[in-house]
Amino acid sequence: MKRLKVAVQKSGRLSEKSLELFRECGIQIPNGTRKLKAAALNFPLEFLFLRDDDIPQYVEQGVADIGIIGENEVWEQEKDIRIIRKLGFAGCRLSLAIPKEKDYSGLSFFQHKRIATSYPNILRRFFAEKKIPVTVEKLSGSVEIATGIGLADGIFDVVSTGSTLLMNGLKEVEIVANSEAVLIASPQLSNDAQLVVDQICFRIKAVQDGCRNRYIMMNVPNEAIPFISALLPGMKSPSVLPLAEPGWSSLHSVVSETEFWDVIEQLKAQGAQGILILPIEKMII
Ligand code: ATP
Ligand code: MG
Repeated sequence: MKRLKVAVQKSGRLSEKSLELFRECGIQIPNGTRKLKAAALNFPLEFLFLRDDDIPQYVEQGVADIGIIGENEVWEQEKDIRIIRKLGFAGCRLSLAIPKEKDYSGLSFFQHKRIATSYPNILRRFFAEKKIPVTVEKLSGSVEIATGIGLADGIFDVVSTGSTLLMNGLKEVEIVANSEAVLIASPQLSNDAQLVVDQICFRIKAVQDGCRNRYIMMNVPNEAIPFISALLPGMKSPSVLPLAEPGWSSLHSVVSETEFWDVIEQLKAQGAQGILILPIEKMII
């Protein structure tokens, strides 16, 4: 089988989570001092450890077949690459921020103002669409100090908790986009390579579905089984096992993490007892 080359960030916010995802997919990555390359031990994958900014280019050129990168870099770099799956980590937003003492009345605040950013393309597109003329100052890092040193009137940057903005006397005034880590692929993959990508995507989906769902089990009076089965249909229908105590059953199902708090009151109202919620490691629907 063809060995697929996958580009991941060498060190930074995406590195650990990217490798953890592959490990959760059952792919063994050799430990030890991190080199520039490492071959998976039990899967036709070779890891290339790179700066995150370089990954879109390598994937576009086919030096790497797939890669993991923040969506923000995909939008910024406008390379010929495909997003094949959102990965649910490294969530952040791309926001406009201004000195906290300034009044903010809306986007027109930025008209003819200077905005510092490492994401000039996203920023220019955003204001062009709004038909608001602005001056974009491109910086490669430490954007948050740009207003303090008189380089710009506002900044446009990646924000997660907002503490860096606060520390620099800035306030977030507009969220332009929300980003998360994504799996990207070269526009043209050979059939062999695509087969390996499909296998990886299948495994990632099983991990993600597992994370989003919980195994739920409880004791229920038999007369409540039809109602609770309708409430918790699970993957096909719940499993129902008789308890030693007559008139009672144990009911097992799967429920999404977000839903189970919504149904818990109804379960109790139906007489359910001893409700247990367990994590699911992998789920194949
Ligand atoms: P490299 O040295 O590889 O170029 P970097 O400094 O450009 O690394 P990181 O700061 O490690 O990059 O961020 C990588 C990605 O993590 C970002 O592109 C973004 O998608 C995501 N991210 C999540 N939260 C944040 C945050 N608070 N600040 C910056 N990036 C974040
Ligand atoms: Mg970078």
